[in-house]
Amino acid sequence: MSKHVVLYKKLSPALMQRLQAHADVTLIEDVKSDEGMARLRDALPHADGLLGASLKLDAELLDRAVKLKAVSSVSVGVDNYDIDDLTRRGILLTNTPDVLTQTTADTGFALIMATARRVVELASMVRDGRWTQNIGPEHFGTDVHGKTLGIVGMGRIGEAVAQRGHFGFGMPVLYHSHSPKPDVEARFDAQYRSLEDLLHESDFVCLTVPLTAQTERLIGAEQLALMRPQAILINIARGKVVDEQALITALQNRQIRAAGLDVFDREPIQTDSPLLQLDNVVATPHMGSATDETREAMARCAVDNMISALSGDKPKDLVNPSAWHPH
Ligand code: NAP
Repeated sequence: MSKHVVLYKKLSPALMQRLQAHADVTLIEDVKSDEGMARLRDALPHADGLLGASLKLDAELLDRAVKLKAVSSVSVGVDNYDIDDLTRRGILLTNTPDVLTQTTADTGFALIMATARRVVELASMVRDGRWTQNIGPEHFGTDVHGKTLGIVGMGRIGEAVAQRGHFGFGMPVLYHSHSPKPDVEARFDAQYRSLEDLLHESDFVCLTVPLTAQTERLIGAEQLALMRPQAILINIARGKVVDEQALITALQNRQIRAAGLDVFDREPIQTDSPLLQLDNVVATPHMGSATDETREAMARCAVDNMISALSGDKPKDLVNPSAWHPH
């Protein structure tokens, strides 16, 4: 009997064809709308596989998915899933690591450059016709090259940010992670620090940890108070890693210089968020991996993981190996 995949993210025609060669596919284009959610609920009891991103798969939805064997997430972050619950139910969870690492690190650096050199603010001044005389010190930014780069979470993306900082911008690199990484230290001349010391010593603090129970609100008022007044916070991890209200207060009080934020407590961000009123904030719409090439590579990876799971092969990017029982 053919397998059934419920897809809640649109695929390119080539990938759709590839998936359809292995399964019947139901596409739900706007799963966040009431109508889309209703269609998802109706489709779940028949699903062997679920493929998509940015949907909180809670126990109530999973209870409906009585046949479900695999969830293939088009993301590296798996904070939308209760991994233990999926494992208990014997459902495989896969993600898309590696293929988005370099692009997400590029986004991190785009935010570093944009905040330090005030690119968005000054470009808006030009576009709005407010560039009427040579700019003066009130518009000057701060240098990036040679400044100390502190990376919180030295994994795949953290390393790619370190590589850019070290080789591209001559930045001394500090990092904080679960454990010291001697190979990273050797490659990028990086030094391990406690979180407190890293916050205190860095000019740029770049967050690249996954969102977990341990990293939720990792950066709050107390941590922001340890940062230098000229320091800039970059968050390309997840919004909830930062206490957003504490960050707003720190930015309003110019307790830190600026923040470059790709991720937020609530997404899309509320249009009346005080963050959007601040000149010293560059906010982007969770676009870390959002290039044509990388999104296609992520979708390909997710499709391949799903095909493996449905075929009874061990998927390459299995997040919960203990749910895997070879036949
Ligand atoms: P990764 O390779 O797993 O790296 C995460 C690193 O964080 C690991 O080195 C880990 O340390 C460290 N870490 C985990 N918990 C920690 C804690 N409590 N304290 C200190 N360090 C901790 O993951 P990745 O591929 O680099 O991705 C990282 C995250 O970036 C994803 O989970 C996702 O949420 C986010 N992301 C965002 C975007 C975007 O669009 N903005 C795009 C891609 C990814 P150990 O190695 O010692 O375990």
